[in-house]
Amino acid sequence: MKDSTKKDRFFQKEKETMERDQKKSDMDNRFVKIFRHAYENSKAYRDIFTSHGIDISDIQSTDDIEKLPILRMTDLIERQKRDAPFGGFETIDLTELRRIYINPGLIWQPGERDYQDTTWAEALCGVGFKKGDRIINTFNYHMWPLAFMLDESLQRIGATVIPTGAGNTLMQVKIMQDLKVNGFIGTPSFLMTLIQRAEGMGMDLKKELCLETALVGAEMFPESLRSRIEDKLEMTVRQAYGTVFLGCIGYECLHMTGLHVPYDIIVEIVDPQTGKRVAPGTIGEVVATNFNPSYPMIRMGTGDLSVYAAESSCPCGRTGPMLKRIFGRIDQATKVKGTFVHPWQTDEIISRYPEVFKYQVIVTREDHKDTMTFLIEFREETRRADIIRGRIERDIKELLTIKSVVQIVPRGTIPDLHKKIEDKRTWE
Ligand SMILES: [Zn+2]
Repeated sequence: MKDSTKKDRFFQKEKETMERDQKKSDMDNRFVKIFRHAYENSKAYRDIFTSHGIDISDIQSTDDIEKLPILRMTDLIERQKRDAPFGGFETIDLTELRRIYINPGLIWQPGERDYQDTTWAEALCGVGFKKGDRIINTFNYHMWPLAFMLDESLQRIGATVIPTGAGNTLMQVKIMQDLKVNGFIGTPSFLMTLIQRAEGMGMDLKKELCLETALVGAEMFPESLRSRIEDKLEMTVRQAYGTVFLGCIGYECLHMTGLHVPYDIIVEIVDPQTGKRVAPGTIGEVVATNFNPSYPMIRMGTGDLSVYAAESSCPCGRTGPMLKRIFGRIDQATKVKGTFVHPWQTDEIISRYPEVFKYQVIVTREDHKDTMTFLIEFREETRRADIIRGRIERDIKELLTIKSVVQIVPRGTIPDLHKKIEDKRTWE
């Protein structure tokens, strides 16, 4: 039977709801500790910090964090080439490894014997999982580390995991049915694939599947897809955002007020050029520091864009900071008529019009000139369609400084997992 009583759940309630001043001093202590640990035990960090003229005594609290350089993926790769396997970022005796994780591009990552990160466990509880849940983990166990990290975290919250990995949709539907699986972990598109497969088998989804909760991630999750899934199954689908190097960086609780930043990570929003924190409410790059004692990541740039939520209180009672959402990648901008257009900018414009259900920007090129067209689907037919269209065109001109045509299309024209800005130009 489905458990329809959803309530706020925590992994370590005391820490997640800690009073803000106490949290700050707690964070300061932990940050200084992990910085010193890295300085003293990792060849790579010692080298990076000393070459930036940073002495161990220069860092006394999180207020000093901007003195440290931003660590880039390219730094990890370059150092791994010179100093295999981990580039000297590890702070652990290499005989103490339980696993060596492999990442795309053959970037190695040490996995300690005793998994200590709590960020994913916190996210799992936050989205609504609990002890005794029976969950299919559909991230791939083959090669990449994320599935293992979630698996370890499910162990920490006392849930039961069925390690299915991706693929084998028919078998997965049978597994869900026979084992009365009530939780799903994976990408939102794979969850939709499984649901469609079950429908194709003639199943009555609400009666024959027991899914209650899903944690989805690793790709963009449009609201339209969330409502389709939640309607079909009467389930709760929440997203978590993170990277395998850093852990979970943000997750939605039941109330969906934004992305809660877990207790076990420091997240900054910075100007990618200067490495300095941006003013509150400004979009910038997500840079994070974790407390991994064997492979600490200190000020690692993710390349993802986000903004801190202005109001960081949530009915769930968590007191930590919150990110509004992820706006995409720094490098996702498209140049139109010589001006960069970011998906978060177009999102911002469209979000002013609740009548709009979905949109997509199409960039084409005719007679050596760029043309930008906004395709708009309305939630329902409206007599104000022309007025709204005119207003959106005006906003685009004002905010993007480029003219664009807005074209109203019927519901269902724009595919679910579409690229927000589709560049159809050819350059022959
Ligand atoms: Zn909350």
